Amino acid sequence: MNTSSRRNFLKALGGATALASFPTILKAATTGPRVIVVGGGFGGATAAKYLKHWSPDLNVTLIEPKAKYQSPIMSNLVLNGQLSMDQITFSYDALAQKYGVEVITDWVSGVDGVTQKVSLSSGAVLEYDRLILAPGITFNPVEGHDLDKVPHAWQSGEQVTMLQQQLEAMPAGGTFVMSIPAAPYRCPPGPYERACVIADYLKSNKPGSKVIVLDANADILVEKEIFGHAFDTTYAGIVEYHKEVVITGVDSDQLVVSTESMSDIKADVLNIIPEQSAGEIIKSAGLITVADRWAGVNPLSYESTMVNNIHVIGDSQGTGQPKAGHIANSEAKVCADAVIRLLNGGLPYAAPMTNSACYSPVSADTATWLTAVYGYDSATDSIQKVAGSGGSASTATKNNYEEMFVWSKSLFGDTFS
Ligand SMILES: Cc1cc2nc3c(=O)[nH]c(=O)nc-3n(C[C@H](O)[C@H](O)[C@H](O)COP(=O)(O)OP(=O)(O)OC[C@H]3O[C@@H](n4cnc5c(N)ncnc54)[C@H](O)[C@@H]3O)c2cc1C
Repeated sequence: MNTSSRRNFLKALGGATALASFPTILKAATTGPRVIVVGGGFGGATAAKYLKHWSPDLNVTLIEPKAKYQSPIMSNLVLNGQLSMDQITFSYDALAQKYGVEVITDWVSGVDGVTQKVSLSSGAVLEYDRLILAPGITFNPVEGHDLDKVPHAWQSGEQVTMLQQQLEAMPAGGTFVMSIPAAPYRCPPGPYERACVIADYLKSNKPGSKVIVLDANADILVEKEIFGHAFDTTYAGIVEYHKEVVITGVDSDQLVVSTESMSDIKADVLNIIPEQSAGEIIKSAGLITVADRWAGVNPLSYESTMVNNIHVIGDSQGTGQPKAGHIANSEAKVCADAVIRLLNGGLPYAAPMTNSACYSPVSADTATWLTAVYGYDSATDSIQKVAGSGGSASTATKNNYEEMFVWSKSLFGDTFS
């Protein structure tokens, strides 16, 4: 059965089983081992692609509810109108057609680690030999935070479009208020980048407006000199940065935010980024072991410390590596390699390395960057930043801004094409 007829077959079976209300167990198309990957973001799409690229005989199934992936990376440039959502949207066609990944558009509602099966919302049940979970993050909003009215825009797509439209409709002289959750959260420089991009946009388009940044952390977490300089100098009189501010509640109709340490603040546009934890499926599968929020994994294979044959990569894993797309792509390759070795009766590679890169626009034509390399440390049996590795830009420049497009194109290409 070819990929598309198999997909139709699965769809039909899914519908039929839902009606008959008993699960159909879908076996892999051929007799080889089956690896199921859940989540088609930077972690999952890369893992599915490289599993097939390196081991074409494997049955690899990617399950993702959305037909296309909308990237959070570069999404701050949708807010200031420099990019359209289409320019950061990617299909799974290449994964299916070029590499032979079976792509199923569905939601994984349950994992049974004992019988090695996943259940889908359509009612279908699939067996796996190895399962890779890459579901990204879930948000833990504070009291009163209605995500349909006050976007976090920390996932791309509708949330980003909503915030962009609210900014466009904001009056000149208005107040934009945003919050930054306590670390760890997705993309350490991302919120500081957002504050700069929006300040720059308001400076040109909505004169007299303010950007109030409420940061739950003790200080600017990364690239402090660059973002601090941007807040204090480039956007002096526009950005008001407050550290150690914990949000306690949000009035989503009146756009008022309450904090532990300041008086209530009224916004014209409110952007609250909630605290985050591993994807829902990680929690329901019982894989959370790190700080009550993340999945503990073996640092060589990303195999869960709780359930055998289940691996966790990307933002949901709790190794201490940053929660970012570039490194999720890197972790995915380490994990795919380990899964292939394990399925062949071997051991994971003993000295894997991963790397991270974040480019941050600071205005409409300048950007900064931050990189780091991570490696397995046998003394502590953990993943550690390699001493002396990586670095960051010394200033925000036009050249960095241009490089940012080269870097992102290459990451998007390596993940989705
Ligand atoms: C403004 C901004 C700027 C950023 N800039 C950078 C940057 O410069 N560099 C960088 O490296 N990173 C950056 N990031 C971070 C990066 O986007 C994330 O870290 C990355 O997307 C994480 O990849 P992931 O695969 O773990 O999760 P995701 O990309 O969120 O993908 C998870 C996927 O899993 C699917 N899923 C979830 N649950 C299920 C389920 N039960 N069944 C089936 N599918 C499921 C979801 O639909 C989703 O498509 C930025 C983020 C933001 C918000």
